[in-house]
Amino acid sequence: MFKNTANLPKLQIFLANPRGFCAGVERAVEIVERTILKYGAPVYVRHEIVHNKYVVEGLRAKGAIFVEEISEIPENAVTIFSAHGVSEKVENKSKDKNLKIIDATCPLVKKVHLQAQKFEKEGDKVILIGHKNHPEIEGTSGRVKQEVFIVENISDIDNIPYEEGSEISYVTQTTLSVDDTKNIINKLKSKFPNIKGPELNNICYATQNRQDAVKKLAIIADTVFVIGAKNSSNSNRLKDIAENFGAKSYLLNGEDDEIFDLLINTKILGITASASAPEILIENLINKIKIIRDIEITNLKGIEENIKFKIPKEL
Ligand code: SF4
Repeated sequence: MFKNTANLPKLQIFLANPRGFCAGVERAVEIVERTILKYGAPVYVRHEIVHNKYVVEGLRAKGAIFVEEISEIPENAVTIFSAHGVSEKVENKSKDKNLKIIDATCPLVKKVHLQAQKFEKEGDKVILIGHKNHPEIEGTSGRVKQEVFIVENISDIDNIPYEEGSEISYVTQTTLSVDDTKNIINKLKSKFPNIKGPELNNICYATQNRQDAVKKLAIIADTVFVIGAKNSSNSNRLKDIAENFGAKSYLLNGEDDEIFDLLINTKILGITASASAPEILIENLINKIKIIRDIEITNLKGIEENIKFKIPKEL
């Protein structure tokens, strides 16, 4: 239906920097594409390679089959583990089925796995700070032999069953809110003064940079659009942060969003995209906005990212 926008003022749009794909996501997508080229379709991918429908559909069209369980994959099939990483149990099940595994786990997630294992070897009880049902947390908790205690919110700390003075350490999910995690770590330290951990260093560079950039955006803009998936941890954190910094904030998939009503009272719009959302979704969104409003775009300055992760040798 046509909606009359003739009386609306020009919309100022500010684009966050950095935004969109991180090095881990670029690597994971390239791994799937190269695997299909090398081994032919279909290739199986355990879990969405990254949490973005546009990316997943694009790879599906090229010959990737996405599954949640190893039991859904036929024996001997070529199989890719997603960027979020997997538990040792999943790896063992894959070996039992003689799957040809190509691992797209982000190297920064692998680093967290190794750190949790190191703490366990030192005899510590390991606490994992992160979101309970997120695949990265399932993968990391399944990399140690003990049952880890997961702290999702600051209030979970009251339920930690370990005695004061126990040998305890923590690791964190890579895509958490820096500010919330800081508060959680501070409370952990006051309850367990000897606790060991990486401070905020498990939160990856891409998450930190995008969060810093969205803070700047939310200070300037009255409304912020975050392009990302509902099940994407880093997308949700960007939306929360924009809200905490005073902007009305919406998480959009960048494809079929109803944006007209969201923009009625907007004078300054900020746009960012999560680490798993490609730039094309921002371009498409801007083209859609152009249909309903006159716009002026400013690309904000931000940290330049030059990180690139190696692709597995066999590809
Ligand atoms: S968000 Fe960070 S941890 Fe996740 S894939 Fe990207 S670089 Fe790796």
